[in-house]
Amino acid sequence: MDYKKRAIVIGAGIVGLTTACRLSEEGYAVTVLEQKDKPAEGTSKANAGQLIYNISAMSSPSFLRSLPKTFLTPSQSGVIAAGLIHPKNWQWALSFIGQCSSKNWAKNTHDLIKMARRSRDSLDAFRTRHEIEFNWRRDGKIYTHETEQGLVAARKFAEFQRAHGGTHQVITKEECIERESALTSTTRKIAGGTYLSDAAVGDCHLFCKNMVDILTSKLGGKIIYDVTVHKILTHNDKAVGVETSMNTLEADLFIVCAGMASNRILAKDFKDRKPIIGIKGISLTYPLGKNPPNLSVTDTAGKFVIARLGNQIRVAGYAIFSENLYIDQKHVSLLAAKAKSLMPDAASFEGDPKIWTGLRPQTTDDLPMIGKAGADNLYVNAGHGSNGWILSFGAAELLLEKINE
Ligand SMILES: Cc1cc2nc3c(=O)[nH]c(=O)nc-3n(C[C@H](O)[C@H](O)[C@H](O)COP(=O)(O)OP(=O)(O)OC[C@H]3O[C@@H](n4cnc5c(N)ncnc54)[C@H](O)[C@@H]3O)c2cc1C
Repeated sequence: MDYKKRAIVIGAGIVGLTTACRLSEEGYAVTVLEQKDKPAEGTSKANAGQLIYNISAMSSPSFLRSLPKTFLTPSQSGVIAAGLIHPKNWQWALSFIGQCSSKNWAKNTHDLIKMARRSRDSLDAFRTRHEIEFNWRRDGKIYTHETEQGLVAARKFAEFQRAHGGTHQVITKEECIERESALTSTTRKIAGGTYLSDAAVGDCHLFCKNMVDILTSKLGGKIIYDVTVHKILTHNDKAVGVETSMNTLEADLFIVCAGMASNRILAKDFKDRKPIIGIKGISLTYPLGKNPPNLSVTDTAGKFVIARLGNQIRVAGYAIFSENLYIDQKHVSLLAAKAKSLMPDAASFEGDPKIWTGLRPQTTDDLPMIGKAGADNLYVNAGHGSNGWILSFGAAELLLEKINE
């Protein structure tokens, strides 16, 4: 008899859905359980859409050095770290500080790049197999730098990334404008930029929605909405089922891909768990203006990004250590003003944008938890921080490798 192993994937964000699709393609009978009534309603909903493959770990000596300043001018700096003072976050904060040495930064960045490049290849192959539409374009990217001092650091960083296969090229302000005409009328201070020819963008939410169609209509998978998983049931070191808000469901393999909620679902005595903290970000989505950009542009001083996703402009910024989704209108106004001053004609800035917020599920070393999670047939794939869209396919490939070990 042709018995397919049954897999339950918990969470229908970008990480759960890539995991589910790759497992289905490998012959598993997959059911995805999602607490919301639609896919990608959590952090995968309105992110910045960046698909950059030479990324770097946030836990770095320079981030640590910049932290005290963020306490003085939190709104302007874009990083609001006051949440770290709360005692419940001390364990995370201490572990994070430990990861901020040059040695750990280099190791974590190396591992991130490896996973991201694997992700690029796997996503490219998936796009070819399924012809999935998600406003994908690989037109490149510019990081603008405000000062000469910033350019010196950018040159050093570009050298590091080129040694790891990156296309980073430090260019003048004039060359930035030549490459991206939407920067012509900028009023932001720009000393120069870093250009990446191989950076892409894509709409993560649209991708997730279309992936559900592929999963259910082409790959034979199932998705159940409006069901909350409370806990994993185990017997003799094996996971046997999940207790949910509806009923108990059984399977042969279980994978927790619940982003921020993953550690709550895993057993309390799971010893390899990584602490995950929420880093809140805000995005604003506008209709196109009269001169929309082709490249995506990150303003490194203002800590925000502008990208074109189909017929929309997405502006994203802020890193607020927080567990709630409250949006401060002051932050929205500041982000909108900074975006308008970088590229005044990129979007219809005069109208009200669609405002969204999400919590980046952040580990202390920037690397997600991928692997066994306390029982032989129970796995986790969670904690992708600022890079879940970029890393999703690489993470799914690594998980499959571990399942097949
Ligand atoms: C402003 C902003 C910009 C960003 N920009 C980028 C970018 O440009 N590029 C990039 O790579 N990354 C970016 N990110 C990060 C990226 O969006 C996240 O890393 C990614 O979305 C995480 O995906 P996930 O599937 O792990 O989590 P989620 O998308 O949150 O999915 C988890 C799912 O699990 C479900 N769930 C939770 N608990 C349960 C339960 N008990 N039972 C059933 N279901 C449950 C949730 O409802 C949710 O649907 C950005 C994030 C933010 C906030």
